[in-house]
Amino acid sequence: MSELQRAWVSSANDAKCPFPLNNLPYGVFSGADGERRCGVAIGDQILDLAALEAAGTLDFGGALQTGSWNAVMALGPSEWARLRGDLTDLLGASAQNTEATARALVPQAEAQMHMPFMVSEYTDFYAAKNHAFNVGTMFRGPENALPANWLSIPIGYNGRASSVVVSGTDVTRPYGQLKSPDEALPRFAPCQRWDLELEMGAIVGTPSEGMVSVAEADEMIFGYVLMNDWSARDIQAWEYQPLGPFQSKATATTISPWIVTRAALSPFRVSTPERERPLLPYLKEPGPMLYDIELEVTLAPEGKGETLLSRTNYKEMYYSAAQQLAHHTTSGCAMRVGDMLGSGTISGPEKSARGSMLEMSWGGKEPLTLDSGELRSFIEDGDTITLRGQAVGNGYVIGFGACVGKTLPAPALPEWAQED
Ligand code: MN
Repeated sequence: MSELQRAWVSSANDAKCPFPLNNLPYGVFSGADGERRCGVAIGDQILDLAALEAAGTLDFGGALQTGSWNAVMALGPSEWARLRGDLTDLLGASAQNTEATARALVPQAEAQMHMPFMVSEYTDFYAAKNHAFNVGTMFRGPENALPANWLSIPIGYNGRASSVVVSGTDVTRPYGQLKSPDEALPRFAPCQRWDLELEMGAIVGTPSEGMVSVAEADEMIFGYVLMNDWSARDIQAWEYQPLGPFQSKATATTISPWIVTRAALSPFRVSTPERERPLLPYLKEPGPMLYDIELEVTLAPEGKGETLLSRTNYKEMYYSAAQQLAHHTTSGCAMRVGDMLGSGTISGPEKSARGSMLEMSWGGKEPLTLDSGELRSFIEDGDTITLRGQAVGNGYVIGFGACVGKTLPAPALPEWAQED
């Protein structure tokens, strides 16, 4: 395990700081003037990379002036490495003449974070075995819990790029068609089983046309974010057969504000678990492509403190993002800069490691008791859901920033949607 790399920004050297020099995650922020700027988190500060490129300290052909990370991603992996090298030199403890760099620091407390990149396409997978087993057990019983294809294919569906929002964005409870098993006909009403999904998002930085290998797919990934894939369970239960989720997953997906690069995570690589059924050759991993990242989710009712709901780890995945991406390309489907792949809900084997409220409350049969004494089976209006994640090194951690979203009540039903 690698050691803490020291920076001259002293807050970055605290063993608990999520943004040491080892991390250097990329985000988009604005200050008082509201202009969106590319920045890198260091300690409790953001280094304004747009300002440094304007001053000639960095030169990436203007890509840092675009208020989004897509242009940097499009430059390719050798430029990603050059930028990380330049930033390590500028911020490292042995850097000389730090005054100009120091003038480009903005306190995180004074900055507003925005979407770090433009999501060009969004695919979500179903690739943690404990989650698939738990949900399958609830819907079909333990004998048929895993679909027949599950141990062979990283299952996914095409989501909506337009639904991806940055941490801090409020999410409005959706309407949809609901029909419980004891109802003869569906009705149109606000979702009553509104849920979270604790996931990681992998961001494709290198485009592709045609099939790529798992090794090539791994190299195409620019970085990772925390991801809450908001899910309407009652809408999902009625709509999902035979084409899978649609409106139940199209309301919002919240991501953390900082893209943690593949380079920063490389000391934390782990292998996917042992295969229970041999994979076809095109899906075999040539090396460890998953990461040991501790994850947690909390719920805070309106005006009250957070209750820890679950602790899990990204290493619980059965398929890595590289395997998912390689599988995605087999159809000939082109991948674009800014494509985001959701891992699928990350549940561990223990009850305390479940990544959705559907599983935590076992379909609503076992409500959770919050620290405030209130009960929850699913998310209620005013509840704030927060995901946090970190990779733990030797004397340092790599953090993502919190992934936060509050649920607002559904609006009144429009007149044209009401029963006569
Ligand atoms: Mn999902």
